[in-house]
Amino acid sequence: MARYVGAVCRFCRRENQKLFLKGDRCFTEKCAFERRAYPPGQHGQGRIKFSEYGLQLREKQKVRRMYGMLEAQFRNLFGKAERMKGVTGENFLSLLERRMDNVVYRAGFANSRSEARQLVRHGHFMVDGKRVDIPSFLVQKGQEVVVIEKSRGAVQILAAMESSKRRETPQWLEVSTGDFRIKMRDLPARDDVTAPIEERLIVELYSK
Ligand code: SF4
Repeated sequence: MARYVGAVCRFCRRENQKLFLKGDRCFTEKCAFERRAYPPGQHGQGRIKFSEYGLQLREKQKVRRMYGMLEAQFRNLFGKAERMKGVTGENFLSLLERRMDNVVYRAGFANSRSEARQLVRHGHFMVDGKRVDIPSFLVQKGQEVVVIEKSRGAVQILAAMESSKRRETPQWLEVSTGDFRIKMRDLPARDDVTAPIEERLIVELYSK
């Protein structure tokens, strides 16, 4: 699967909000958004007035970038949310949270979702005893994600576990750092997504 490998701080500046895409750096004064909190480009400091469509597009781009997904993947997952029972926007956020890379990040075993994606791809995790190296794998309620035995000394994972102490572990995950284990206690609900997201705008955009 292709992925974006360019600069990411410009995304935070574009969306006028910190998206926390660079791990530790996001909490330091080196954060580009802290230094230049206006959109990138020649006209970045001008006044920007968005149309209704513009607002919907920006919200979609913001969330897509937050989870580090390409448009096709993002749209496909939205389609899955539409086919589920319940409220589409809430289903969609729940599906995004259940992605394996997000679970690893939210549990504190990686400093950012992109780092989590790389760790998953490199086969450092098992789900219910089977190696899973697909970042888009959707973790089910009750499943256990465990760091494989020989990766438990990996500097990247240990460093992330140390620095993630400043982040709160979501209620729907049970994390046992001693045995490198994450259990999905519950399916993530709307209230569990604390990032400022207006999913209604994404639903409206994709319903056109
Ligand atoms: Fe965004 Fe992090 Fe870059 Fe700051 S350091 S602009 S929060 S990605």
